[in-house]
Order: sequence, then structure tokens, then C-alpha cells
Amino acid sequence: MNLNLPEKYVIAVDGYSSCGKSTLAKDLAEKLNLIYIDTGAMYRAVTLFAIENDVFSDENQINEQLLSEKMKDLRIIFRKNGDFIETYLNDRNVSEQIRGPKVSGKVSLISKIKFVRDKMVSLQREMGKIGKVILDGRDIGTVVFPDAEIKIFMTASIQVRTQRRFAEMQEKYPQLSLDEVKGNLEERDTIDTTRKESPLKKAEDAIILDNSELSREEQLNLVMEVINKNLLEPKN
Ligand code: C5P
Repeated sequence: MNLNLPEKYVIAVDGYSSCGKSTLAKDLAEKLNLIYIDTGAMYRAVTLFAIENDVFSDENQINEQLLSEKMKDLRIIFRKNGDFIETYLNDRNVSEQIRGPKVSGKVSLISKIKFVRDKMVSLQREMGKIGKVILDGRDIGTVVFPDAEIKIFMTASIQVRTQRRFAEMQEKYPQLSLDEVKGNLEERDTIDTTRKESPLKKAEDAIILDNSELSREEQLNLVMEVINKNLLEPKN
């Protein structure tokens, strides 16, 4: 069915927090043999780096000059380990740590900073040159790859998103309440959509996918139809 897909193309998946972007991106990557770049993991790794380098002068105040100096020594790479893609921060596997509430609570503040975004975007464009790639994030279809062949903008109700994230966090962070999880999603969405630097918004040519009532398989099938149609048939 996909034999005639082009040699090189970019799929951009953007959307609100906990909409299942990474689930869809991983499923598509497996099905179409794409390289998957989880850009949220990159911002999360910078945030962990910022916390560890004491750039928060108080709860939400960031010493940007210190962060900018420290970031000269920052290196983020992904490594595939079986079915998992692991995130390395300066040669340390931080895949688990970056998913915790400490990082989730600060990541949108770090992601607002222009020099942080500039560095991440240039790394993402470099990684995206490789060939067939899928990236998920907030600004992929609008800023990182505005010419991406396929753009998907994901959304789901806040209730569904909260339940999904809560279930994910239960095993490792049983102390987190449903309200705390919901509060974090809402807070991140507010900061992400209202920030000055590349705010989260739908690219004009993106397809909206509301998966509040879709199963994993249903959403994959829907997007596969879009991909086959758009990549096989010439756009006019
Ligand atoms: O995708 P994930 O929820 O892991 O992203 C964590 C945070 O990283 C987002 O809430 C957002 O602040 C930031 N982010 C971003 N731009 C991206 C990807 C993530 O600003 N492309």
C-alpha cells in the first residue's frame, strides 16, 4: 500500500499536552519506517539541565544569562534501544527523569525562552535532514518544518487528556492527584499557546485530529488514509 511513497518526507504532529501525539508518532514511525523525533523530550531535557544547574533563582524566576552560558555544554541525543527511544543529556540516559512532575512543572517556562527555542529548532532541522522523519511537538508545522508534506494538529477533551496522563503517571507517581495532573496540563497549554516565541497553534494547512473518542487503531487508520491520499496524489 505504501510502496510509492516518496524517499524523503516530513510528518509534523502538533497539539496540546497529552493528546497522544507521541503514541501516534510512534505508531506511524513503525508502520512507515520513519525516524521519530520527540521534540518535547528535548525541551524536557533542557529543563532538567536547567534545574540541575540552579538557574531557577526562585520558584518561577529564571537566570537566563546563567542558562545561556551553561547551555554551551548541553548535548541532547536520542538512542534507540529495542522498542524504546532513549533521551541522553550529556551522555546520561534521562528518559525517565524528564517525565516526572518536577520537569513537567517547569518545562513550559523554559520553552518560552527564545535562545532555548533557537537551539532546539536548529537541532531538530539538522535531525530532520536525514530522510523520512516524523516529529511531534508544538511548533513543528508552523516553525520547524513549515513545508512538511503532512501536518496533523491533535486535540482531545481535557477530561480525556487528564485521564490518560493520570493513568500513565500512576505507577511511578502514585501520590499525584487527578487535579494536579489536570492543573499541569492546563497550565502548560496556557503558557504554550500564549507565549511570544512560536506559540502552539494550528498551521493553516494542518489536518485536525480530535481523538477524544478514537481508539489507537482508529486514529492510526485515519491518519494512514490521509498520508496515502496526500503523498500519493499530487497536490493542486
Ligand atoms: O510534548 P511534551 O508534552 O513532552 O512537551 C513538554 C513541553 O515542551 C510542552 O508543554 C512545551 O512547553 C514544550 N514544547 C515546545 N515545543 C515543542 C515541543 C515541546 O515548546 N516543539
